[in-house]
Amino acid sequence: MVICVSWVPELAKTRELLLRQAGYSVTSVLGRQELSKLPEIPNACLFILAHSVPREEKLEALTRFRHNSIAPILSLLRPHQSALPGVDYAVEAFMPREFLNAVATATSHRRTGWSVDCTNCNLIFDIREDMVAFLVSDRQSTTLQCPHCRTTADYEPREFRRAPKTSKEQ
Ligand SMILES: [Zn+2]
Repeated sequence: MVICVSWVPELAKTRELLLRQAGYSVTSVLGRQELSKLPEIPNACLFILAHSVPREEKLEALTRFRHNSIAPILSLLRPHQSALPGVDYAVEAFMPREFLNAVATATSHRRTGWSVDCTNCNLIFDIREDMVAFLVSDRQSTTLQCPHCRTTADYEPREFRRAPKTSKEQ
């Protein structure tokens, strides 16, 4: 299941068709009023933010999605647009093939399954598996940097949690 957030219905339809032809199931989220649908969409393997989404709404969508999913986030960019913090993949992909390649790369990526809540911005971020093994055995707090807001803070192993398992990845 791929979730596609877009502000332009025609473009959303085109992407939906491309993804379906490539074998993905797709749920489109169109416009601000549909962002509230996000928590009800189960088992997403990828979250796509189209370049038509305004920056502020992108951040909101990202935060909502991150709170109940560890699936990767792919952001489609306009030329010279910079990527948002918290995005796993950001590409300028306008040709259908470039777009599908980006989707294939993003969905094949494996996540660690461990995460922690940032004490500053409250977004969840991942911790590398080797790091977790080391920290848990050592039982010491450690300094981690949040990739979203770049704040560094000390975390104890008990604050780490297993991120919810994404069952049956597409
Ligand atoms: Zn943060």
